[in-house]
Amino acid sequence: MTEAVGDSVPAAGGPTDAAWAAAVAAVRGLADDARVLLICHVNPDGDALGSMLGFGLGLRRLGVRHLQATFPGPADLPEPFRWLPGVELLVPQDDAYPAPDLVICFDAASESRLGDLADRLGRAGASLVLDHHASNTGFGGVNLVDPHAAATSVVALGLLDRLGVPLDAETATGLYVALTTDTGSFRFEATTPAVHEMAARLLATGIRPGDISRRVFDTRPFGAVRLFGEVLGRATLEPAAAAGHGLVWTYATRDDLARHDQPAYVLEALIDSVRCTAEADVSCVVKQSGDAEWAVSLRSKGAVDVSRVAVALGGGGHRFAAGFTGRGPLDGVIGSIRDALTTNVLTPHP
Ligand code: 5GP
Ligand code: MN
Repeated sequence: MTEAVGDSVPAAGGPTDAAWAAAVAAVRGLADDARVLLICHVNPDGDALGSMLGFGLGLRRLGVRHLQATFPGPADLPEPFRWLPGVELLVPQDDAYPAPDLVICFDAASESRLGDLADRLGRAGASLVLDHHASNTGFGGVNLVDPHAAATSVVALGLLDRLGVPLDAETATGLYVALTTDTGSFRFEATTPAVHEMAARLLATGIRPGDISRRVFDTRPFGAVRLFGEVLGRATLEPAAAAGHGLVWTYATRDDLARHDQPAYVLEALIDSVRCTAEADVSCVVKQSGDAEWAVSLRSKGAVDVSRVAVALGGGGHRFAAGFTGRGPLDGVIGSIRDALTTNVLTPHP
């Protein structure tokens, strides 16, 4: 392991010059036959996969020959990402280099988000963490964590630039998918002038934003449309929750998925339909992931810091978007959210 560079708690200003220099040195110093393993978080989204694969293609351009990308859990890639440039770098977690020379982690706030792959960090010659979660624990040898970055791909492009890798359309595609995923297609608060400047650089490579958005965000099987109808039909509004700011929530079971013959990833888009609710500041989708296990997505419009709610319940995320794993019966999970909401309201209800 290389010695840790930078604070274990990320500096508000983003990575230090020393951390950038250490990351560049770790990549430039790789031997010709070095094995590099890229890992993104469990249940990967567009930022996790797009940053990892985009960066991976950049590394390949630099001449890194022994290069793998992976994520914990089943190796199936959600349909919307199967076309991404760089998917050929992906290997199932069990096939990932057991002791790589360099490990680079993407979009993971803590080791727990790496599942069974967390052991690679201890066995690697060196490790880099590229991330933008304020809650990042600084678990890498070198931590490039910028809580102000709209997506992990902002950090990934920062490192590619410092490595002198020319930006091509294939790399740009992954980084663009990442940027549009985490900014809600340039709708969220994180959409700064710098975000649009980065998007302009990516688009200038010739990538087609209409095609990319349709494939990633606007295509789903008819069965998923019917499933959404059912799950949205049982959404519950609790105007008194979150000290009067309101909570809207719904849930989907594995049985719901089976009835409509749908894979679990289709539920990721559901929160966007639920969070439209005008009467609630906080929205929530509870997705069954095991017999008594639930993947919970939380969103806020600003009155509640949902990352604090999620951290209190064993998860993490950002102020406006966070999540955690709930255990036990559904009622209990909803009850724990209701309770955590009352203690994490930022602004009093008018
Ligand atoms: P989503 O609801 O889209 O799955 O996740 C929203 C945000 O919460 C993302 O930034 C994601 O990294 C974070 N998040 C979701 N689930 C978990 C979890 O179980 N643990 C942690 N630490 N973060 C999570
Ligand atoms: Mn992200």
